Amino acid sequence: MIKQVSVIGAGTMGNGIAHVFAQHGFSVTLIDVSAPQLEKALATIAKNFDRQIAKGNSTEADKSTALGNIITATDIPSGVKQADLVIEAATENMDLKLSIFKQIDAAAPAACILATNTSSISITKIASVTNRPDAVIGMHFMNPVPVMKLVEIINGYATKKEVTETIVAMSKQLGKVPCTVNDYPGFIANRILMPMINEAVCSLYEGVAGVEEIDTVMKLGMAHPMGPLQLADFIGLDVCLSILQVLFDGFGNPKYAPCPLLVNMVTAGKLGVKRGEGFYSYTPGSKELIVSNQFKK
Ligand code: NAD
Repeated sequence: MIKQVSVIGAGTMGNGIAHVFAQHGFSVTLIDVSAPQLEKALATIAKNFDRQIAKGNSTEADKSTALGNIITATDIPSGVKQADLVIEAATENMDLKLSIFKQIDAAAPAACILATNTSSISITKIASVTNRPDAVIGMHFMNPVPVMKLVEIINGYATKKEVTETIVAMSKQLGKVPCTVNDYPGFIANRILMPMINEAVCSLYEGVAGVEEIDTVMKLGMAHPMGPLQLADFIGLDVCLSILQVLFDGFGNPKYAPCPLLVNMVTAGKLGVKRGEGFYSYTPGSKELIVSNQFKK
């Protein structure tokens, strides 16, 4: 029975994951190398609760119970030593994740399940550096975690059935809809999403249409809530590029080759919302569009 959950990484995803578990009565230890990041994460969780309260979807009592369920730590071994489940949501970097999983494996109880929120790194590879590859699984939450219903559950090559069943049942307990897939590059979400984003960037690169036209066609024509270029800005163009590289390397198929325009924009530091500029321009520190047609190829 999972009661004690440790979340590693208190960034965009980690604070959302901690929020949802704490809201559903789990005891959460939120771990980050950066103490200021932990403070920022708690402030973000409080702010997100305030938004839910304003909409009538939560109460002040829920907020204080949830915040009371979270403690923080800056050290992995002490932060995971009582955990029933660890969810790693640190920076998307293979070497970093392998090193974190070695530390978790050495410090967490033998029965603890080890999950990763990676968008694209092989679960089987991560599991291979632990002494419990059958207890390692992908739990790919979507951003923003408190709002988005889907959790893509990824079985590594060695993940045992009981572990998948536990994680599927627990995801339902969190009010999420779990979807179980196997561990191949990009899983399902990014294997389908990233080629679409890449094709949108290629259409722009080849001059087929402008930024707004491409996004409008996909929004109004396909009922997508956001066009692929704006979505890429929200995800981060560097993140999109690195996932495309995983698909390209993993399948060895040129259809996944990142568009040269995407590569150029990442090299130039135009990473989307987080840098205030990508295919669109944004008010600094916010997701609000300020100029919608300033993009230069
Ligand atoms: P982020 O950059 O916002 O946060 C990463 C956090 O990890 C930072 O706070 C950093 O200080 C911390 N960190 C780095 N090294 C650490 C270590 N050794 N120990 C503890 N903490 C450490 O990143 P994010 O967007 O939250 O992404 C986290 C993970 O979630 C990645 O694997 C990413 O692929 C995945 N993901 C992201 C999204 C998204 O939309 N952002 C969606 C789904 C999955």
